[in-house]
Amino acid sequence: MSTSQHTPVVPLEAGASPDNPPCPACGEPLFGWLSPQPGLAGAVSRCESCGLGVVGGEAEPNEALQELDRLREGEWIRIDNRGSFAAALGSAGWTGLRPGTRYLFTVESVRRLIARRDQVVARSRWVPGAGLGATWQTLLNSVTLGHNVALAALRGGAIAVPAEKRWQRRIDALASVVLAIPALLIALPIELAGGLFRRGSVVRIKLQLL
Ligand SMILES: [Zn+2]
Repeated sequence: MSTSQHTPVVPLEAGASPDNPPCPACGEPLFGWLSPQPGLAGAVSRCESCGLGVVGGEAEPNEALQELDRLREGEWIRIDNRGSFAAALGSAGWTGLRPGTRYLFTVESVRRLIARRDQVVARSRWVPGAGLGATWQTLLNSVTLGHNVALAALRGGAIAVPAEKRWQRRIDALASVVLAIPALLIALPIELAGGLFRRGSVVRIKLQLL
């Protein structure tokens, strides 16, 4: 008798429990990804099927759709791609973990979510410049005490979580300057590969009604 006949096959749904609530995009259980981070509302879980990340407790499809709509820029929606190489490498240092963010999107999770209101993804495009900036900042986050400090200084916007103490913020500023070029040289091939394999850091998505 072959042992393979007795290999148990556990469907992902079997993992659903109060600790693993369903993904608001695709319904598969969410699993823990990151412990609570400064500036975030709670621990971060992720869906291993569509890749959606959820910050804090209860996740709900309508709320996720509302957050997605807030990312709208004209006809396009622009996401920090949780399915990017940068997010996989950066984990807690990933630049997409911004203060106030509840949902961390991937192209596939957007596709599943918008299907709920009869929309489809008409196009998705890598945004090379913004993607490179995000990967660069993700690398810097791995050495600074604060989060997203350099990008916030360059571009503005409420994306930074500065270190608590003044001396720490001074070290972060110094580290960001000294390591800016080395980090860029590492970020470049990572983000180029990301763009090539549809795992870029920043993606624009055009939605269409069915
Ligand atoms: Zn999912």
